[in-house]
Amino acid sequence: MKDANCVFCRIIDGSIPSVKVYESDNVIAFLDINPMEKGHVLVVPKQHWRTISDVPVDAPDAVRCAEEAMYIVRVTAKALGEGLADGTNILQANGACAGQTVPHLHFHVIPRYGGETLQPGWESGAGKYKDDDERDSYATRIADGIKKIVESEGIFG
Ligand code: 5GP
Ligand code: ZN
Repeated sequence: MKDANCVFCRIIDGSIPSVKVYESDNVIAFLDINPMEKGHVLVVPKQHWRTISDVPVDAPDAVRCAEEAMYIVRVTAKALGEGLADGTNILQANGACAGQTVPHLHFHVIPRYGGETLQPGWESGAGKYKDDDERDSYATRIADGIKKIVESEGIFG
């Protein structure tokens, strides 16, 4: 599945150049054109899904593609950790409100070298709960939603 207007589909088909670090039938990984740190990699499944929620679980080739992307995220972080970086951040945005600018599922693997001032744009504690009841009601709603999806998709559990 491709989208002719999608910048990452065009990188995949070679009509936009990229600095590749990995490529297979399912996944491509290349350097971000506007890196947060030197060595910032984007890991991109070759199938065009807008967000992580759009990955179908009833198509084996789609599942294989998404699983390989997750595996390459791991391997990229591991490779960066072996002699290049002190640590990594994995970022993945779904929707414009989450900062997604390219609507083709992708994972950022961002090396950290220690002593950086630039940190990812989240503030710990910014989403404080009013009280424990409010916290528990979030937990219940999320847990119920997860249970429903896990049961209906029937992949695990
Ligand atoms: P998002 O904000 O959607 O999570 O991340 C999109 C990323 O894609 C950005 O970090 C941006 O720098 C990168 N990007 C956008 N266009 C291109 C391009 O043509 N080539 C490469 N290598 N990266 C791109
Ligand atoms: Zn695409």
